[in-house]
Amino acid sequence: MTSKAHALSLKILAECSTTKARACHMTLPHSIVETPVFMPVGTQGTLKGLLPEQLEELDCKIMLGNTYHLGNRPGPELLEKAGGLHKFMNWNRSLLTDSGGFQMVSLLKLAEITEEGVKFQSPHDGSEMMLTPEKTIRWLDRCIKAHKRPHDQSIFPIVQGGLDPELRKKCAYELIKRDVNGYAIGGLSGGEEKQDFWRMVSLSTDILPDDKPRYLMGVGFAVDLVVCAALGCDMFDCVFPTRTARFGSALVPSGQLNLKSKIFSSDFRPIDDQCKCSTCKNYTRAYLHTIVTNETVACHLLSVHNVAYQLNLMKCVHDSIKEDKFPQFIKAFFIQQFPNKDFPQWAIDALDSVNVKLNVNTPDNGQSSVDLQIDYRQSKRKTNLQGPTKLACRALVMKQYKTALNHLLQIDEVKKELVNTVKKTINQEVNKVCSDKNSVLRSSNIARFSWKTVHKQLLNTCPTTVTS
Ligand SMILES: [Zn+2]
Repeated sequence: MTSKAHALSLKILAECSTTKARACHMTLPHSIVETPVFMPVGTQGTLKGLLPEQLEELDCKIMLGNTYHLGNRPGPELLEKAGGLHKFMNWNRSLLTDSGGFQMVSLLKLAEITEEGVKFQSPHDGSEMMLTPEKTIRWLDRCIKAHKRPHDQSIFPIVQGGLDPELRKKCAYELIKRDVNGYAIGGLSGGEEKQDFWRMVSLSTDILPDDKPRYLMGVGFAVDLVVCAALGCDMFDCVFPTRTARFGSALVPSGQLNLKSKIFSSDFRPIDDQCKCSTCKNYTRAYLHTIVTNETVACHLLSVHNVAYQLNLMKCVHDSIKEDKFPQFIKAFFIQQFPNKDFPQWAIDALDSVNVKLNVNTPDNGQSSVDLQIDYRQSKRKTNLQGPTKLACRALVMKQYKTALNHLLQIDEVKKELVNTVKKTINQEVNKVCSDKNSVLRSSNIARFSWKTVHKQLLNTCPTTVTS
């Protein structure tokens, strides 16, 4: 066993046969984490957050230990004196932090990618510098080389690129050439349009390798968690559950309860009678209503519940993927959140891209698509498809023809033959052909090919436009 495998190993327990979701065991030196996982931000240096022991009680296995939030940021010497960050924080399970150096999982912050290069933020003093893509990768290489504890710590470089698909692809393709234990998807959840958000997430997970965890940074709304798990993300973090607790808001399957509201003044039920957290066991909505303005106590109690809600939600996601019932789970979840079926359009579109039709009531897709998926799963066992070829095949099976073409174009041999003008025509042709139910592209044989077969199929669909 290599030392790297010891710092982090990912075992895929199940892959959803409809979406890109997977359920994994991520083994870290301090704990085994079930994914998809929500990682609470446990340490804010004030009484507003949650104590590590409370998180432990909630069966939380990994949290963000952001040292910037410890008030006075301890230096490496102090941490060493304290016996390490885990001991300093009284947290013996896994830690993820973006401040570099002494953590379980360190994050390299690529602040911004422009035409000229990447604006890089030093994890140590926050200073920014401009690097060309080549230099950035060299820098990542140096970080990997300088990494002092690869046996028990992992570095996750961050896929950046803002909302520009080309830059994001470029960044992702560069990063996956490096041998690291996992990847983060960053630069999102900053108030961008949700339609842009999910497309960038999906594009990133399409490129990132299956055998490494994918951490989507700063995402924590329940709806976003469910959708992004379907898009193939494994790890999430967000201050939202504890922040919203400060405003008297409790997370429940139907959305949120604003405990400040008078309607709770004589409501003697717990926040959620299905919830197993200590707040729901011991306190009523009426009690919480009366103390909700007393921030520290109420905030504590609500934070415990809200984090319990997030952890439980992810456990349900994990379990439903393992049972291959994730699409059904998604539909039930959305109906609870939006009983009037006024689903947000971006969620409809994002889920549609992974074959889950929110607005269709039938238990699932038609027979043909199920056949294709079974074929795809079987073909995956039989063939040794790698990289863009595998992604192209998957996209084809999921009827995402444009994505398939984009992946195909990453393959050098295909690149040579498909010049850009031809690509455009093929796109149109493929779109036309796809609407025809008897088309070769819908044939169940499609899952068994090498890229050459796919290419041939594409050529057959538009023989007059390709001159190879
Ligand atoms: Zn609760």
